[in-house]
Amino acid sequence: MINVGITGGIGSGKTTVCKIFESIGIPIYYADFEAKRLMYKNKNLKQKIKDLLGNQAYYSNGRLNKPYVASIVFNDKKILNSLNTLVHPVVTQDATNWSAKQNSKYCIREAALLVENSSYKQLDYLIVVTAPIEIRIKRVVQRDNTDISKVQLRIKNQLSENEKVKVADFVIDNGGEISLFHQVWKIHQILIS
Ligand code: ATP
Repeated sequence: MINVGITGGIGSGKTTVCKIFESIGIPIYYADFEAKRLMYKNKNLKQKIKDLLGNQAYYSNGRLNKPYVASIVFNDKKILNSLNTLVHPVVTQDATNWSAKQNSKYCIREAALLVENSSYKQLDYLIVVTAPIEIRIKRVVQRDNTDISKVQLRIKNQLSENEKVKVADFVIDNGGEISLFHQVWKIHQILIS
């Protein structure tokens, strides 16, 4: 199985691009979504999170207490890193198990932090989705109905697009000028050849 990663900054269009790959039959593992599932389902991981953040990290019904967790990790980078260090290997293993069960020529792992945590190195190819910052901000503000300043802050806290592009095998330009489907199709042809 060929494992391909898709990443990009907030609002670059990772999900939008993945939907196109999905529409042509490529299986996608949405790492951030699966991480949330594993933080709920994986007992061992759950215990480690409680050890790190306290029992309040979970409600009595077993669901993650997101406001509590966010209030801790967004004010303390060290704790955020410790949490990522707990969750990351569990998600990577889950994605590897998932990938082994797929029947296509290649499969895709979509994640926001593939470059930041170096996990792209374990994949065969990396696709980076890009778009000018002002377009990304406009799209996220519209999608999430949020403030420009909040989106700008999140972008400021992320690794720059340039750093991601440097290690990419393929770059998809989602600035709106070039057809996304056309770009996806070209990459697809290369990956299946
Ligand atoms: P996040 O990092 O927040 O998960 P993302 O990189 O997955 O975001 P998307 O959710 O795919 O980005 O796109 C952000 C928003 O921009 C969405 O509302 C999406 O519909 C819109 N969008 C993405 N690409 C385009 C495009 N080419 N033209 C118009 N709107 C777009």
